[in-house]
Formats: sequence, structure tokens, C-alpha cells
Amino acid sequence: MALLYLSHKERGEVWKPIFARELPELEFYDGLEAVRDPSKVRFIATWNAPADPVKTYPNLEMILSVGAGVDQFDFRSLPEHVKVARMVTPSIAEMMRDYVVLGVLAMHRQLPRYIAQQRDKVWSGGRVDLARRKTVGVMGLGQLGTAVLEALRPFGFKLAGWGRSPRALDGVATFAGQEELPAFLAGTDILVCLLPLTKETEDILDAQLFAALPKGAALVHAGRGRQLDHDALLDALDTGHLEGAFLDVTEPEPLPVEHRFWSHPSLVLTPHVATVTDFEEGALAAVECLRAHEEGRPIPGLVDKARGY
Ligand code: NAP
Repeated sequence: MALLYLSHKERGEVWKPIFARELPELEFYDGLEAVRDPSKVRFIATWNAPADPVKTYPNLEMILSVGAGVDQFDFRSLPEHVKVARMVTPSIAEMMRDYVVLGVLAMHRQLPRYIAQQRDKVWSGGRVDLARRKTVGVMGLGQLGTAVLEALRPFGFKLAGWGRSPRALDGVATFAGQEELPAFLAGTDILVCLLPLTKETEDILDAQLFAALPKGAALVHAGRGRQLDHDALLDALDTGHLEGAFLDVTEPEPLPVEHRFWSHPSLVLTPHVATVTDFEEGALAAVECLRAHEEGRPIPGLVDKARGY
């Protein structure tokens, strides 16, 4: 029985001794050249799955994403019995909390404007709004969306959230499905996107969605680049309908040098760093996935392939 590891060498060097210690019966194939017997491969840990992996590894049982998302996989190429799981570690939610709080406060306190003013040596104060008069609306109420809402609580913002299925969260106005999206957007001053990328959420942050937000609203986007229509965002910022944006993800990554996001005065751009999976914690999470699978327990981060997340 073997795990085929197909990701960064540096991470592999941390994973290898942890797997040897925790699952000594499992061979750790560190890269394609290390595969001695393809029929032994029951698990693949990777960011991008090889095309048609079952053809090469006929006894494959599970693919483990080394990141928090699984939108890079083509689920159609996987037979029903091959499971897919993603990284679910406490530090991913901890880091996302920091990032979104940073983005929300930056939007709330007009940070892009003051960064631009500092660069131009301009000393000019603007209005200061009260947090309790604003609503932060979070799209995606999964492990990250709910952690972020919890972290925003002490600042006094009104909180709202939108997901696919209805759910109740203490102190949060919740909305579900397409039919409740307009009402959610109409009441949101700072919109946070933490949705997984699926067919339904691709390009969801488009002109129509921005138009449904109140004038002066702002966007914090840490989901996936393909969820955002770049031109629609630029139009909304240029016309002043949106006041600012704080982005961690774009399509492509990195953006071409001539892209307007690099220099737009109302926009803060970070290079997909909202969370970075800790290698050791990731290895232990992967070990736990394999143990849960072997023992028939619920697998942490197990993906519903039909739903796409
Ligand atoms: P999760 O636990 O699977 O939660 C996903 C949430 O999105 C759920 O509440 C789900 O609704 C909702 N959702 C899915 N499709 C929807 C749709 N069509 N309409 C409305 N709501 C929908 O995911 P997570 O762990 O919180 O992570 C979310 C995403 O964050 C990841 O997929 C990844 O893209 C992104 N991410 C980014 C970074 C970064 O560094 N920038 C790091 C980690 C993750 P239900 O509750 O009804 O299922």
C-alpha cells in the first residue's frame, strides 16, 4: 500500500518523516520517479491530479488536495469509488480570519484612499463611519465563512451571510439560494466572498451583482479568481458605485503587468496569501484522512463530487 506524493519538494521533505512515523505500513512515493509498483498506489496527495489517474493507478482509492480548494480537479474523470478530500486544518481558518478582518477594516476605514494620499504627500481627512452602522455580508458559510463572521463580531458590524442551503447562525442575518441573493446584497456594505469555485459560482462577482449592492459598498475577495469579472469590478470602482476592493485572488495569477488592478487607487491586491497551509499540520491532516478512510470513520474535508465542493 502506497501514497504517491506529487507536490512541492520542500513540503514532501516535511511530510515524508511524519508519514513514516504515523503510518509506517504505508510506502511514501515521493514523486512519479519514486513509483516502484503503480498497483500499490491507493492514495495520491497533490494539487493537480494526473489525467485519468485510475488508468495508471488501478487501485486508487482517494485523492487528497494539498490545499483548501478542489476546483483544480476534474471530477468527471474520476470513478464513483475514488474519494476526494481537501485540507481542513485549524490554521487555514485562523489565517483567513486575520486576512478578512484586515480587508474589512481596510475597506471600512478607507485605507486605499489614505495609502494613495500618503504616496502623493496629501494630508486630507475624510468621513469616519461607525462599524455598528454597517453590514458585513459573507458569501459562503462554510468552515471559513463562519470563522470569519465570528472574528468580525467584536467590531460591532451588523453581520449577514449567504449560502446555498438555509442555516441559522447566532447574531447573523442569513440568506440562502439565488432567490434570497438580492435581499442579501441590498443590505450589505462590505461584501466578503469565501465561496468555493463551482459551475454556479464562476463569474458570480459580476456587473449585475455589483449593481445590487448599495452605492459606496466595498468588496473583500478571498475565494477564487474565476469568481470575479475584472472589468465589471473596474467599472464599478471607476463610476464610484463601489468604494474599494481588497483582493487576494485573480485570474490569472499573477496578473499581467499592464493589468489595471496593480495600480488602481481604490484597490488593494495581495498575491493569494490569505492562507498558506502549514506543512506539518497538513501532513497530520492527511494522515488523519487516511486513518478515517481505513477505519470507516467520517473523512475530514471529504468533497461531494456531484456538488463540486
Ligand atoms: P466549505 O466549508 O466547503 O463552505 C463553502 C460554503 O459555500 C458553504 O456554505 C456553501 O453552502 C457555500 N456555497 C457553495 N456553493 C454555493 C452556491 N452556488 N451558492 C451559495 N452558496 C454556495 O468551504 P471553505 O473551507 O469555507 O472554503 C471556501 C473557499 O475559500 C474554498 O473553496 C477556496 O476557494 C477559498 N479559499 C481561499 C484561500 C485563499 O488563500 N485565498 C484559502 C482557503 C480557501 P452550503 O453551506 O449550503 O453547502
